[in-house]
Amino acid sequence: MAKYSETVLEEIKSRISIVDMASKYLTLSRKGDRFWGLCPFHDEKTPSFSVLPDKGFFHCFGCGKSGSLFDFVMEMEHLTFPEAIRHLAEQAGIALEEETEEDRQKRTELETLRDLYEKLAASFNYILVNTNAATEAQQYLKDRGFTTGSMEKFLLGFAPDDPGWLYAFLRSKQYSDTILAKSGLFSKNNKDYPIFRNRLIFPIRDWQGRVVAFGGRDLSGNSQAKYINTPETMLYRKREIVYGLFESLPTVKTENSCILCEGYFDVIAMHQAGLSTAMAPLGTAFTHDQGKLIRRYAEKVFTMFDSDDAGRAATKKALVVCESMGFESRVITLEGAKDPAEMLQEKGPEVLAKACLNSKSGFDHLVHSAISLYDGKKATGKLQIFTEVKPYLDAVESEIVRQSYLRDLASYLQLDESTLLRDYMNRTTDKSIGKREEQFRSGKGFDPSLGGWKRSSDLYAMLTLMNNRFLFPTIRNRLRVDDLIDEQAVELYTVLEDASREGVGASDELVLNMIGNEDLRRIVSMSFQTEEFTAQAEPILEESIKRIMLRRLEKVRKNVENLIRLAEKDGSVSVELSHLLLEKKSLDEKIAGMRKPEHV
Ligand SMILES: [Zn+2]
Repeated sequence: MAKYSETVLEEIKSRISIVDMASKYLTLSRKGDRFWGLCPFHDEKTPSFSVLPDKGFFHCFGCGKSGSLFDFVMEMEHLTFPEAIRHLAEQAGIALEEETEEDRQKRTELETLRDLYEKLAASFNYILVNTNAATEAQQYLKDRGFTTGSMEKFLLGFAPDDPGWLYAFLRSKQYSDTILAKSGLFSKNNKDYPIFRNRLIFPIRDWQGRVVAFGGRDLSGNSQAKYINTPETMLYRKREIVYGLFESLPTVKTENSCILCEGYFDVIAMHQAGLSTAMAPLGTAFTHDQGKLIRRYAEKVFTMFDSDDAGRAATKKALVVCESMGFESRVITLEGAKDPAEMLQEKGPEVLAKACLNSKSGFDHLVHSAISLYDGKKATGKLQIFTEVKPYLDAVESEIVRQSYLRDLASYLQLDESTLLRDYMNRTTDKSIGKREEQFRSGKGFDPSLGGWKRSSDLYAMLTLMNNRFLFPTIRNRLRVDDLIDEQAVELYTVLEDASREGVGASDELVLNMIGNEDLRRIVSMSFQTEEFTAQAEPILEESIKRIMLRRLEKVRKNVENLIRLAEKDGSVSVELSHLLLEKKSLDEKIAGMRKPEHV
């Protein structure tokens, strides 16, 4: 994306007032320091759309839309951020600064790489479908039950065995050695030696359908690596790409759900069986970034990972990610085959489709799989089961839902419900919440029209930082991103880090634009319009950080206490026990020390 300097943005804002701009689209009248009008984004009879000229922001109290001059124009004219800037600069008569040479070069390289991947995907596909070189590959796909329709939908291809082919082919298309070196397609030590040879090729597309990487499956049987992928390049960030998302999008949007599988062939097999919401995180771990991408289109996630240990771990992790992001999650367990691709091959598409009808809720699945692994009759087994399920419980946002899960768990484990509840609460309660935070959490002191979103104390701290970004460089030395447990707070932390790295931290608009999640962007944009986060920022942050640190220590102490309980019960070696007791003592002291000075 082309970057615009802050001066350009400031220049635009100084020449075009948000009130004038909004007045082009609706009638505004002044009341106090705000202007009011009928919202252009939703139907209404009484005005709830307000513009704050001093702050340069708008907010609708009806539909919640909110933002800057740039957001307003983006919404009204359906423009991207850079387009909106160009549009406004033109109106204001501002010449946009030339890109720097470095920017220009980077953009050109990116465009060239995109073009290369597009062309190469088409060539690989052509070779697979039309040439004798790929006879074995075609046969292989046929044997595994894949149709030509699937080959087309996923643009499957074949990389020839000839090691000289790829380099010669791309050079003949005028790609420079510099670009080829950055393409991820050649060996690092040998500029013309291709990483894909005699492999079936799976083009990996981003959500817009652009090919950004390749996966390749060995067909020779001689390679140590059955599957290889292009490494991360300018185009490709693995944790942000979901294989099959693009191909699934139309169905995902209508069904409001998706199915996460493990590999390329699983995704294709599922689509062939008519389950065309199947996709795969690349590698087995499902990331928050991938979740964010899917969250735009769907609220429900089915997981369908392999039935081995790796698949079980991947399922558990994905369920926690899903829960923390507010997805409804369900687990499909295949009976009679190791994965969807195998079931397609051995039993056909109808059997596969039918097998996917049965699913369990994420929570039930976790509990049952933990119970099958550990002995729920013994105290240690109960604790292990509890420990397995706990990350999921932590991720549950609603207290009511969590309590009902805890009740279920207590009955599975034949434990007294109140004991389990108390134990759980002891492990997680934040005991020292400042007064302002409490107000914030209860919705007082901050615009109530924002009701409904998660008011966590982590988020409060990050909003304070967002409003006082100059403090970030000092805070980041003390607070790590993994100290935060609230997903939105984590996103804000990442944005702050990116903004400070890219040197755009001084501009509200640029920073807002870096927030991917729309709700979160709205929350931050609203926070810019109040005084709440700027008054006494430093003491508030200090308090928040202290509390987050305490939480980290208390968590460690709780784990140690559990280990002590276990060690005592099992009569474990006394050396271990005495170590644990020492560790607990030192944690007790640290925690007491942190609590003391301000009598929290
Ligand atoms: Zn509205």
